[in-house]
Amino acid sequence: MKTAFAIAAHPDDIEFLCAGTLAKYAQRGDEVFNVVCTNGDMGHVEIPPAELAEIRTQEATAAAETVGAQIKLLGEPDEWLFHDKRTRLLMIDAIRWANPDVIITHSPADYHADHRVCSEMVFAASFLSTVPHIESEHPAQDHVAALVYMDTVAAANFIPEVYVDITDTYELKKQALLCHQSQVKWLQDHDNIDVVDFIEAVARTRGLQCGVKYAEGFQVAKIWPRLRPERLLP
Ligand SMILES: [Zn+2]
Repeated sequence: MKTAFAIAAHPDDIEFLCAGTLAKYAQRGDEVFNVVCTNGDMGHVEIPPAELAEIRTQEATAAAETVGAQIKLLGEPDEWLFHDKRTRLLMIDAIRWANPDVIITHSPADYHADHRVCSEMVFAASFLSTVPHIESEHPAQDHVAALVYMDTVAAANFIPEVYVDITDTYELKKQALLCHQSQVKWLQDHDNIDVVDFIEAVARTRGLQCGVKYAEGFQVAKIWPRLRPERLLP
């Protein structure tokens, strides 16, 4: 059994980018954990930030339950995620909480500043979580987790190296995404995006590339000591 751990910047990123794969891990009996760095409080036109943060916490929690994941929300401000000593320590403790074998996070090449900062913090913390003299709430890990980058938003500027066939879990991914009802409206209003069309187009494209109906694409961080000889993804 593996422990898989997805870490993303905003409450809906995991559902957009890797929820089909997380559902697959959970279905084969692996433990699955999610961490969301920010509270998502900027993601709406009409709902005020404090209220929106509450709503998005509930949406992310329901989405995690849909795929069988436990969730922790770090509550950093949306659009203002910075990598400093305090947030790096938060990330170290989040990794220790899940004690994962595999960490999935944003590509360093993704579109949003918060995604890039999250990716950089995870890269640093995934090694530092094993250093015992760095103290936090949970004990230090006894191994460095493998690190995998999930697809970028809209699959832009990202060539997958590993594909996961999510044909059987695509419906769960869609249900999990639709838990984020506040974002269905925001993305329509702000970005002219129909969220279901959006994930279907990406999943079909990644599926076409590897010969299945729906897939999610990933890259493995090929950086010592995060490499493993076995396949990391389900
Ligand atoms: Zn995001």
